[in-house]
Amino acid sequence: MTLTLISPVSKHRKMKRKKKNVGMNPKHVSFVCLMCYEKEDIPYSIVRDFDEMDPGDPSVPPMFACEKCGGEMYPEYYKGVHGMEYNISDKL
Ligand SMILES: [Zn+2]
Repeated sequence: MTLTLISPVSKHRKMKRKKKNVGMNPKHVSFVCLMCYEKEDIPYSIVRDFDEMDPGDPSVPPMFACEKCGGEMYPEYYKGVHGMEYNISDKL
């Protein structure tokens, strides 16, 4: 599985791997393609890492490119590191 982050990411910051109690977190975040409705489960730790690195608008969740059609994949439900909640029903 290859993942492509759509949100712009600062190239000046290095990816930091934080070791936390991963067992406490939900395992996956379901992402749904806004174009073809393909669904994909992405490990929560990856989504959170992207979210933490993303310097952009906090009202926009981390999004990934659909492998099938290249469309944007939006989280079905995800609570971001900044406390924002995102729900696919806001987009459909
Ligand atoms: Zn798609």
